[in-house]
Amino acid sequence: MCNNANSQIIEQIKNDLKYYKEIHNNTYSELKKETTNEKNIQEIISKKTYPEQIRKVNANISEINNIIFYHNLKNLTFKTYRLQHFNYLTKNNIAATYNPIENKIYLTKNWIDTDLYHELFHVGSTITFKELNIIASGFQYKNKTNGYLIGTGINEGYTQHLVNKNFGYDRRKSYLLESIIADKLEKIIDPEELKKLYLTADLHRLIEELNNYNTIDNIINFILEVDYVQNLIKLSKSKDDIPAIQESLLNIYYFLGTTYYNKLNSIPIMPTNIKNNEMKNFMNSLNKVTYPYSSEYIETSLHFIKNDEIGELLNQIINQNKQKSISIF
Ligand SMILES: [Zn+2]
Repeated sequence: MCNNANSQIIEQIKNDLKYYKEIHNNTYSELKKETTNEKNIQEIISKKTYPEQIRKVNANISEINNIIFYHNLKNLTFKTYRLQHFNYLTKNNIAATYNPIENKIYLTKNWIDTDLYHELFHVGSTITFKELNIIASGFQYKNKTNGYLIGTGINEGYTQHLVNKNFGYDRRKSYLLESIIADKLEKIIDPEELKKLYLTADLHRLIEELNNYNTIDNIINFILEVDYVQNLIKLSKSKDDIPAIQESLLNIYYFLGTTYYNKLNSIPIMPTNIKNNEMKNFMNSLNKVTYPYSSEYIETSLHFIKNDEIGELLNQIINQNKQKSISIF
């Protein structure tokens, strides 16, 4: 279990998210008033750098909810670094980044279209509360005053999932682990609804939706665990980190598995054999995760978790739920 996962922190996060719910709703109503029609948006896009790429992402966002995208797009600027030695980016091996305070996308000379699409999805899902020191981006919530940062893992994963789904995988296979986790959320929450929650920067409502099938504490633990494993992988320097990564992934898979199983159990007409088969596919597809980052000690084809361990986990989920009559709240 990750170090962050203790009840005191979870209580603080719960309170913080309640507070966020309030300010989010007020700010969002204000943003809504700005919304203009598609013709105006197209006009703004045509004056921007990279209109072609922005148009593609806009087409993808507009069909669900473009209120935040439109708001940020108006003053969005770009900065391209011709030199490779733009420290922050090159050190972290990323080709692009979005700074929500400046409302600016930074690109290194190595960027490709999928990098820009990824950052534009951040533009379309970020609300900045400058006076409050709060930034909400998709499923990430950052409160600088009290030092919170939660949801980076699932947020990057879902952002990349949108890129992969709509524009195809890039050659770098960016955020592969996180995007597979995010992809599973679409099995639990209706894809259109999930996208709407992301495009309205509503982590609070995401947790409420997941609460239909699991407890709030488990949900927050899961989100923190994805943040934890993402960091662990990013900073990992040796093979010694693999057991910790595996333990963390098993926690994440267990959460996703039980949550999905609880959802299947909420469908009264589903026969047990179909349900169990569905679960088997769900768990096996999780283990498509291979080490996504280039590293000298891990081959790209390595699976973190062995297939028989996934089978064990599946049995555990199904049998545990068989024993107790489902009471998840
Ligand atoms: Zn990102």
